[in-house]
Amino acid sequence: MSQTFKGGVHPDDSKSLTNQKPIEQLPPPELVILPMSMHIGAPCQPMVAVGDHVCLGQMIAQAQAPVSAPIHATVSGTVKAIGPKEHSSGVMMNSIVIENDYQDEIDPSIAPIDHSNMSAEEMIQCIRNAGIVGHGGAAFPTHIKLSSAIGKVDTVIINAAECEPYLTSDHRLLLQYPGEIIEGIKIILKILGLKKALIGVEINKENTFPGIEALLPSDGSIQLCPLATKYPQGAEKQLIKSLTGREVPSGKLPADAGCAVFNADTAASIHRLFSTGMPMYRRIVTVSGPAMANPKNLEVRIGTPIKNLIEYCGGFTEPPTKLLMGGPMMGMAIYSDEVPVLKGTNGLLAFAEKQPLHIKDPRCIRCGRCVESCPMQLVPTYIYQSVMAGNMDECKTYNPLDCIECGVCSYICPAKLPLTQGIRVAKQKILAANRK
Ligand code: SF4
Ligand code: SF4
Repeated sequence: MSQTFKGGVHPDDSKSLTNQKPIEQLPPPELVILPMSMHIGAPCQPMVAVGDHVCLGQMIAQAQAPVSAPIHATVSGTVKAIGPKEHSSGVMMNSIVIENDYQDEIDPSIAPIDHSNMSAEEMIQCIRNAGIVGHGGAAFPTHIKLSSAIGKVDTVIINAAECEPYLTSDHRLLLQYPGEIIEGIKIILKILGLKKALIGVEINKENTFPGIEALLPSDGSIQLCPLATKYPQGAEKQLIKSLTGREVPSGKLPADAGCAVFNADTAASIHRLFSTGMPMYRRIVTVSGPAMANPKNLEVRIGTPIKNLIEYCGGFTEPPTKLLMGGPMMGMAIYSDEVPVLKGTNGLLAFAEKQPLHIKDPRCIRCGRCVESCPMQLVPTYIYQSVMAGNMDECKTYNPLDCIECGVCSYICPAKLPLTQGIRVAKQKILAANRK
């Protein structure tokens, strides 16, 4: 039986545009643009200079703080520029630009890593040096997640829910490379000294189950757990609740509920690191949406400008009104096709909708749908109204900091109130006041 959580919504998932399409390798681009911040944490510092020759997989920017992740060359070639470049967040970001020599000359230091006699700390150091961050979108450094979980958690959860509409990169990975995921999970279990991992997959990806089940260890240490198809099933707190019945306490982390959650592609990346020595230099991106001529799942070098992905997919069927990096519920609107694919980019979507019906002076009609659907059991309409009224004392009593910004309330609201946006503002105001 499939498991789930309270609240959530069932948007049209539109996954049929790409879920039958095998992952294709996008030819490496002429130039890669590698921003110094592609992760949660401190930006990196360049270690190369303009004119330097670099090899594929060579570390070119080092982490400046424990919560950070180094950056590696994703092609071999020549450093053409170091300076501000457009970033998907809308700001200019210090970036290293490499001109591809199309040789894919691999850094001589790269070789398979035998971890059989390594300690957990040594293995985590390898993962840190490889710049691996969560592949699910948030891009949290994986070495921090691992080191903070040691001794605190009893269960590893592999997030393969992929609940955002349109996105199918994890689906294709589960179907085409289940062995890489399973081997990566075994390494995570070894590092954490655990014997229990649960792979959570929504049942709309049922065709992946036989391939995964065939590779599960006979000792039951890794289990496949079908999940109901519902958004946001893949949000960490909802996933933990669905799979273990445990609640992550307000303001706390998954480790406080005894769980460490890793995306399926992150597990695969960990396996590839130890089996080949290669750091994080590629990722799978679903390129889709109603305005994309030929939607695909692409394996892409990190730093590839998104215009290359769009061109490879045949361009647009009509001029898009909206380009999103990520899924339609939590993705970020981007305003330039020059911005590069980042470590956390799991989707690129193009929409050509007519402008949504403009409702003059939208008002809450007190239908209660946002309250029924909020997966965090918040009262979105009250948070929104109080922040709009500038009444932050009242706003705080509704616990806006527990909001996971899933977008469900805005999606479900018949009055088209920008609830998530308002709640995000409330969170920023409260966090700014707390910092003071
Ligand atoms: S209040 Fe936050 S957690 Fe609740 S539905 Fe809205 S965006 Fe999601
Ligand atoms: S869904 Fe919209 S209209 Fe309904 S109660 Fe919430 S804010 Fe009001």
